[in-house]
Amino acid sequence: MTLSISRPQPLPVAERSPGSQVELRGIVKEFTGGHRGLDGIDLVIEPGEFVALLGPSGCGKTTALRVLAGLEVATSGTVLIDDTDVSHLPARKRDIGMVFQSYSLFPHMTALANVEFGLRMRKVDGDERRLRAGNALEMVGLGSFGARYAHELSGGQQQRVALARALVTEPRVLLLDEPLSALDARVRVQLRDEIRRIQQDFGITTLFVTHDQEEALAVADRVAVMRAGTIEQIGPPEDLYARAASPFVAEFVGLSNRLRATAKAGWAELCGVRLPLLDTTITDGDVIVFVRPEDIRFASSGVPVDVVSTSFLGSFRRTAVALEDGTVISVQHPAGFVPEIDSRLHLEFDPAPVTAKPWES
Ligand code: ATP
Repeated sequence: MTLSISRPQPLPVAERSPGSQVELRGIVKEFTGGHRGLDGIDLVIEPGEFVALLGPSGCGKTTALRVLAGLEVATSGTVLIDDTDVSHLPARKRDIGMVFQSYSLFPHMTALANVEFGLRMRKVDGDERRLRAGNALEMVGLGSFGARYAHELSGGQQQRVALARALVTEPRVLLLDEPLSALDARVRVQLRDEIRRIQQDFGITTLFVTHDQEEALAVADRVAVMRAGTIEQIGPPEDLYARAASPFVAEFVGLSNRLRATAKAGWAELCGVRLPLLDTTITDGDVIVFVRPEDIRFASSGVPVDVVSTSFLGSFRRTAVALEDGTVISVQHPAGFVPEIDSRLHLEFDPAPVTAKPWES
């Protein structure tokens, strides 16, 4: 691909070349001692697509990214870039840019020299190198910071330099391993939006590893939720959120209430209410259903509850209420309504399909 970093402005759409297609096919990674870090990963990332790998600590996100980068050799399976098998190609020949959680800048080099480094390795001559590195710094908003050393830059600025350094060589693929997790909340949001803008402007195929579901939902075209070395579900953020394919995904992505219910012919019955089940094949009997706080609202009649507590969260409010059996659930509603603690109110449930799992006492 030709990622024209020598100009800081994005290319006009018609001139942009698409990124590469990336595929992990049946990837298994066994570490010494027999522990399976990856247990059969299949993932296709389309050219120019931004995919987030999301999952709890230890589920294999970093291992998957390292296998794709060539920093780890898979026990079995194939890594393809643009349909070419690169499984046995060393990392430096895969033409992949990487940004890690730790800023990993060379401390004895200026920001400009750090960005120039990859070009120097590729024997790009001095003037061209400085021009391209300067433009890459410009692109990440640090055009005037080229002479600074790492210790003279904030964490967010160092991570921008690391991003410029990863992009300046015009890689086919960009891999980001928790690049924002060392930053404070505000900088994190700013930088994640900027990464997304740059990624879209240049159409670079990107895999982003995070354990932060909000981050993944906010930036990715598709999110792959990982669990114990496998991909449990992959889809656009909206799908994942609204139609979690498993209880694990429902619990991991967003906030869900767990409610005891009875499954019967594709429906869940709870508190005198019937909700359609997302998975209609679930066995009849006692189940736990997962209901989002925003899929429940206060109404003039319905399920009676007692108000336990309420929290103001800016544009909305979350109120904890107790059902008659004592189960406490969370309701999300406009901030303007302030329920009185201990008062009796009533709830209505959104009739959207819900995820469920068998009840385990
Ligand atoms: P985190 O979010 O904590 O970084 P992760 O999802 O990125 O976690 P990985 O680092 O990919 O998880 O690790 C997956 C599993 O493989 C873990 O159980 C980990 O302990 C194990 N593992 C990773 N690297 C090695 C190694 N070199 N030797 C043995 N086991 C390893």
